[in-house]
Amino acid sequence: MLNFTVGPVMSDEIVLEIGGNQVPYFRTPEFSDLMFENEKLMKKFTYAPEGSRAVFITGSGTASMEATVMNVFDENDNVLIVNGGGFGNRFVELCKLHNIKYTEISIPLGETLTKENLDKYDAKGFTGFIVNIHETSIGLHYDLDLISEFCYKNGLFLVVDAISSFLADSINMEKQNINVLITGSQKALACPPGISVIVLDKKAISRINNITCKSMYFDLNDALKNGERGQTPFTPAVGTLIQINARLKEIDKNGGVESEIKRISNVAYDFRLKIKDLPFEICASELSNAVTPLHPLTAKASDIFNILKDEYGIWICPNGGDLEDTLFRVGHIGALTTKDNDTLINALKDLEKRGII
Ligand SMILES: *Cc1c(COP(=O)(O)O)cnc(C)c1O
Repeated sequence: MLNFTVGPVMSDEIVLEIGGNQVPYFRTPEFSDLMFENEKLMKKFTYAPEGSRAVFITGSGTASMEATVMNVFDENDNVLIVNGGGFGNRFVELCKLHNIKYTEISIPLGETLTKENLDKYDAKGFTGFIVNIHETSIGLHYDLDLISEFCYKNGLFLVVDAISSFLADSINMEKQNINVLITGSQKALACPPGISVIVLDKKAISRINNITCKSMYFDLNDALKNGERGQTPFTPAVGTLIQINARLKEIDKNGGVESEIKRISNVAYDFRLKIKDLPFEICASELSNAVTPLHPLTAKASDIFNILKDEYGIWICPNGGDLEDTLFRVGHIGALTTKDNDTLINALKDLEKRGII
């Protein structure tokens, strides 16, 4: 199997091998040390400012999106949400569900967030800003510096869902004034799904301390308090946390976050060069290194997905709903190389020869 989806993605040998081991008991000093190390490396790789913390939630990325909305905002807030697709819409639904006042900045398909979009909301009494920096559903990457400047100028508390962008694109909590950064285990961390991570700066911790969360499992005060001893309130996905530990240490050893971003960006660049001669259009104005969204000019996207899966053992990432036939995505995260790109390109060339595309 060759997996070019956007998660779960392929894991390297180190992570795979751990998956074959027994899962240890976790209320031990050894596991606490591993969790301290996970927290330290997560803060290092996100450039979290002094006094920040990282918590590990057992649940997919959406669990941490929901925990964030429930713990850092309350009825006194009024937030802006960038909604450019499926994941932006998820934050809209979450704020609606948890009675957080919000205004949506809708980005029509094919467009992106501009300074003009933001200027309309200048000095309008907002308190927070939520964005999925890479709207993975359509492969659109927003300009984080633009957002960061706008939030700084307006004193907005900035929540960045970097679930598919962390380790693939540059991001710096301190320089870009990010108060909360969210990521997940099954994207560029390239581990099995089940863990999501929330990195919190001092302002975020103070908000959490002052808000009573109406959930037991998602209470971040509880998570922070347990984290002080390297533990979680409830049984976490212990095996996945051990895999994350190995992966974070490996990245650290190989030159850190910038080297990993460079590695992924090389794979993306290589693919985007090689796809040029085939009948596809890259369809986003600003791209993340994590994904290339492609519009097939001569065939249905869903047919290409099915044929590659069934006849070639290659998984690309299909789209659903209205975009099912017109868009698919090729991921560059996980244990992929430029040689794997060649395998996919050769399969697509074969489809061309067969008259399918
Ligand atoms: C994958 C992803 C999520 C989380 O989805 P889960 O299925 O809950 O892990 C959230 N936001 C973005 C931008 C994503 O790419």
